[in-house]
Formats: sequence, C-alpha cells, structure tokens
Amino acid sequence: MSRFFSEKYSALTPYTPGEQPRDQHYIKLNTNESPFPPSPLAQRYAAEEAGKLELYSDPTCAALTAKAAKVFGIEEDEIIFSNGSDEVLNFAFMAFCDDTHPAIFPDITYGFYKVFAQLNGIPYEQIPLKEDFTIDIRDYVNQTGTVFIANPNAPTGLYLTPNQIETIVQSNPERIVVIDEAYIDFGGETAIPLTKKYDNLLVVQTFSKSRSMAGARLGFAVGCKALIQDLSTIKYSVNPYNVNRMTMAAGLGALEDRDYFLSNCRAIIENRAWTVDALTKLGFTTLESLTNFVFTKSNAISGKELYLKLKENGILVRHFDTPRLTDYVRVTIGSAGQMAAFIDTTRKILEGTL
Ligand code: PMP
Repeated sequence: MSRFFSEKYSALTPYTPGEQPRDQHYIKLNTNESPFPPSPLAQRYAAEEAGKLELYSDPTCAALTAKAAKVFGIEEDEIIFSNGSDEVLNFAFMAFCDDTHPAIFPDITYGFYKVFAQLNGIPYEQIPLKEDFTIDIRDYVNQTGTVFIANPNAPTGLYLTPNQIETIVQSNPERIVVIDEAYIDFGGETAIPLTKKYDNLLVVQTFSKSRSMAGARLGFAVGCKALIQDLSTIKYSVNPYNVNRMTMAAGLGALEDRDYFLSNCRAIIENRAWTVDALTKLGFTTLESLTNFVFTKSNAISGKELYLKLKENGILVRHFDTPRLTDYVRVTIGSAGQMAAFIDTTRKILEGTL
C-alpha cells in the first residue's frame, strides 16, 4: 500500500477471482464460464462494430434495450445494462443501502457482496445458511435492510422458487430485494415477471454464463421504472459509456440467436445430470444444482487434496478453504468431453493410480 492510499479503503479485502492460468493448458472448470463460444451472430455483430471503435458507445444501449424488452416481456424503461452484472450489483449497493439500511445476504454466497458493502462503507449482516446449505426464507422476511440473494445461490447451486422469492419481496414493501440470477437459465424460473407486481424487486442477470460472453462483460438489472432511474443516476455519475460498442452488438446478436442459447443451456443441463450421476457412482455427495456448476464432496478425499490432484493433472476446479466449505469442490459443467475427462481423472485419483 502506498502512503497515498485513502484511509477509507485501507482495510478493504478485494474479491479474489478464480485462477486464470497462463502456464499450462488446463481443462478450466473453475470459473463457471461456458464451454461454448458466443453465438456466431454475436461474433459477427461484434466484428462489424470493431471498425467504429473511434466513436463512443450509445449510453442508452437503445438497440439492445429494445430487443431485451421484447425478450424479457418488460418495458424499455424497466431495464439497465452494465459492464458485467458485477457493475450493476455494485450500483445497487450504492443506490439502495446506507447506514440505516444495511445490506443483508447469506453467509455463504457470492463473495463480491461483502466486497461491495465494504467498498461503499455500507454496514452488512450475513445470515447463516441452514445446516444443509439451504436458505430459510423466514430469515429474510420483514427485514430492515436491503436483501441480496443469489438465486440459484453460489457456490451451492441451490434454488428458491418464484413463490419463495415473492414471500420475501412481499414482506419487505419498504425495502429493496435484489435477486441475482446469474445462473437462472440452467433450469430455474426467473423472478422477472414479479417486477411488474412489486416496485421493491430488482432482478439482476448476466450474459457471462448461459450466453457465453464472460469476456465481453455484459449484465443487466430489471425493475420498475423508478428503480432503473436510480441506477441510471449512479451509472451516469460513474461511467455513461459502461457498455462498449462491441459488447453491445454481441449482446444483441446473443439475444437474437435464441436457438443457440437454448441448445447450449440444454447441453449444460444434460452434462450436469451425467456428471452428478457419475460422481454418485464414485461415492460423492452432490448438492442439487440448477446452475452450470456442481458442489460436491467425497468421504474418501478432502476438497483441498482433490483440487490439488486435479490441478496436477491439468484440470482446474474451485476449492474454498473455509470451515463449512472445505470438504467440497465446485466444478463448472463444461462440454461432454471435459466432464468425461474430469470424471476419469477423479476416478484414477481415488484409485491411487494418479
Ligand atoms: N453473481 C454471481 C452469483 C456470480 O457467480 C457471478 C460470476 N462470478 C456474478 C454475479 C458476476 O458475473 P458477471 O460480472 O460476469 O456478469
């Protein structure tokens, strides 16, 4: 730390992204990326836009907004785009939390929530998940603070139904409830339709997972017009051009190419079912996932050892070295070939032949 670093940030612990190794060619099952390239249409639109990069991007994201409004069944003033969903989540912390309205989220969830709270000097409360890693929705009703829930949750993969989300939203009419649906397209049902009924619900999604655009950075939030205006005030005070021209064009292509999106989601769901089954046969216990990853443990090997052995053998998964999570590894669902390699290597590790 330099002697110039502002004291207000000196105690900040930044988010630790998953490893992005450059030293070896790994099968990367550690950061929940898609194994599939972006839609060919998304790639074409982005390439066409490359020749216009001398011009600023459209701060209103007009073409993308118009298409998204149709796809998600909302009005154009009920959605805002951002540089990855991380950015709009941060905007939500800035816009809807303060000293009297702390941020409230599970103790085991997406690690960035805590960082956003700390970054913005917002008090926060972490509510423990139940013993079986589920969220008890009774913990989130009649809250004084702003609720943040990843649904499905990470790294557990567990899911709340729209009815359960509605119970939380309905019981907090004076507070905002933010539902982070980064993984909703892999078998869950979105809460977006509830934004028509409740002015205190904000739903956040990303193009990083089901639309194969993690490297492009595109996310969005859906909510009533007033909430979107609040987020827009923050956006125009930070960076009006937060979505670059190529990403905006790629996003439009990704939304237009619905068949490609649906077939990739189906492939991940199939590969997940195959992987869970194969892990069960190897004696693993796996939480029921509605995401593009599984959270799994074996009595025969610790999470850390499995992670290290897999890495030695060219396969990267994620291990969280905290007391409740340390037995587990989180494994991104990749292509059928990648999952076969993961299972084969895991079997050999358990047999002691690797
Ligand atoms: N929410 C959750 C639950 C996530 O796991 C992630 C991805 N790490 C994000 C949000 C952010 O994704 P992105 O910024 O790539 O849209």
